[in-house]
Amino acid sequence: METGSTSPSIYCDFVPVASKRRRRELEHPRLGAWASLLEGRDALIKDSRCQIFNGANTNIWKDSWLHPPHEGIINVSQLISPSAPQQVCEIMDKVNHSWRVDLIDSYVSRETIDIIRCCPIGNSDGCDRRVWPWTSNGDYTVKSGYRRIHAQKRIREGEGGSTSHVVQKEVWQSIWKIVTLPKIRVFLWRLLNDAISTRWNLFKRKIVNSPLCPICGQLEETVEHLLFLCPWTQAVWFGAPLSYRVNLQGFSTFDKWLLEVLSLKDMGKKEIMNLFSMISFTCWEIWKSRCNFIFKGYLIDPIVTIDRTMRAFREFMGVKTRPEVSIWVAPPDPLRQTSRWMPPEVNFLKINFDGAWQLNFFKAGLGVIVGNEEGLFCWGLATSFRCSAALVAEAAAGLCAVKLSSFFSDVRWNWVPRHLNCAAHKAAAIGARAVQLDCWAVRPPPSLVGVLVSDGLPCPPVEVSAQ
Ligand SMILES: [Zn+2]
Repeated sequence: METGSTSPSIYCDFVPVASKRRRRELEHPRLGAWASLLEGRDALIKDSRCQIFNGANTNIWKDSWLHPPHEGIINVSQLISPSAPQQVCEIMDKVNHSWRVDLIDSYVSRETIDIIRCCPIGNSDGCDRRVWPWTSNGDYTVKSGYRRIHAQKRIREGEGGSTSHVVQKEVWQSIWKIVTLPKIRVFLWRLLNDAISTRWNLFKRKIVNSPLCPICGQLEETVEHLLFLCPWTQAVWFGAPLSYRVNLQGFSTFDKWLLEVLSLKDMGKKEIMNLFSMISFTCWEIWKSRCNFIFKGYLIDPIVTIDRTMRAFREFMGVKTRPEVSIWVAPPDPLRQTSRWMPPEVNFLKINFDGAWQLNFFKAGLGVIVGNEEGLFCWGLATSFRCSAALVAEAAAGLCAVKLSSFFSDVRWNWVPRHLNCAAHKAAAIGARAVQLDCWAVRPPPSLVGVLVSDGLPCPPVEVSAQ
């Protein structure tokens, strides 16, 4: 992104649907209240974690101290020797802020070692404390407790979330009428049949050990979670031209959601079918990004997914309906038609920024690159931090640019596609790996030079002093 935004052309918000559980609670309020209290208490005890400060009062093997996606208590592959470290502080190197995992690596899996390595070791010498790892601030809330209990129940009972009801005839009919690619139509048909390889479906068939979403690791990956409820997908739906804000509480099933779209009152049939086309491409690109993450190790980036969705949709609609393009396609944006980074106007600096998120370990990076009117690199920074969602990483990068822009009197903001933001994207990736803040006053690191040069941001030549 650069410091403007393209305004979305359509805003849609859909009416929440009360879940079956909520209805049950409304019908039996007393029972529901007591059960919720007791379940909340149990969940709090079972699913909370120790937050490590000095590590002295947390047992490596008995206490639940590793954070999601880890299940908390370490599973050991063999009997623990009495001479092995017992308390977490014994494997902490507080001077170098690193973990002495070599002391325990014969007992635990590689994945667990990786998760331990990602736990930050701070300077605090305070006692370890209990936190609730299912909210971003570690505080328990009734909503998060409820969601956790619900997730666990579904795992225990082995219920399918998406197949327990009949999909309405209108939804099936509309699927076959959507103007979209045949492969996407088949994909939608499979989604409605719950016939795709979500972690939840694989878990039910005993193919994988965990039903949890491989991206956020917080809830089981059902069709609904995969497409709408996983934090990064919410960024895609909101950031795409539909500007749809997913209703987390009211979202029930994919087909019911489609039914709500079908019954939108202030839209004509043709507009709704156009909307369906856009939705079909968005779902397809979310699925592809998710698969690329799992099978190819690509980073999840909502901006990239939005960009690919828009490009695929425009290309397809350009072929299908040449003059009567759909209503929500934004007017041609000169920035999108430019093939490379362009210098700002005279007397302006251009600040490009981006965030990157390392899904497995809730680690993020942000990168900022400043270029001048001559197309020269002026300044840049990259740093890492911990956060729980790609959107937070993007927001943090934006905030950093906002702070920088406060030094200027005339600031203009603009959203740009990925291919015009390569340097900031690369800087964010460098940031995600950085151990401390990297700030480049004049000369960027070698790994950035190639990207900057291809952007047309040549770096100042090395000054050789005369001898
Ligand atoms: Zn998820």
